[in-house]
Amino acid sequence: MSSAYRILCLSHDPALTIETPDWNRPEHAEAAIRDGVDGHTDCDLMIGRYSYPLIAIGCPRTFDLPEHLRGTVLRCCHGSTQWIDKGWLLLLTAAYQSNDPAMRAAIEAGNHGCLPWERLRRLRVELGITVVGPEPYPSIGFVGEKP
Ligand SMILES: [Zn+2]
Repeated sequence: MSSAYRILCLSHDPALTIETPDWNRPEHAEAAIRDGVDGHTDCDLMIGRYSYPLIAIGCPRTFDLPEHLRGTVLRCCHGSTQWIDKGWLLLLTAAYQSNDPAMRAAIEAGNHGCLPWERLRRLRVELGITVVGPEPYPSIGFVGEKP
C-alpha cells in the first residue's frame, strides 16, 4: 500500500497541514523543506506519512530547519529524516500526560529530542489525541503559549 507525504507546520497551534502536490515519496517533502516552503521559511516543519490516516511523523534533517529553532524548540540533531510511528507517538503522548510516578520518571530520564511535549501537543489534531493537562514538563521542552 502506497503512502502519501504532507508537510506539517508546528509553528501553528494546533499544527496545520500545508497544501502541497500529491507526493508519494518522502524525498519530495524533504526537498521542499530543504528548498524552503513559501510562507513557512522560519517555521518548525515536520513530515506526515499517511496511508490515510496518519501512520508516522518524520522530523527533517536538522540542517534544513531554521537555525533559530535549534536548541529551543528542537532538541534533536540528525543528518536525515527521523521517522516515528504513530503508535509510539501515542504512547509517548500518554506518558507525558501521566501522573504515574514510573511514567514521569521515564519521561524525565529520556531525551525525546525530536518530540518534546510542545511538538506532540501541537500535533494533537493530527494524532487524534485529547490534551488533558497543562504544561506537565517545563524542564523538557514546553515552550510557547499556554493551551
Ligand atoms: Zn528531530
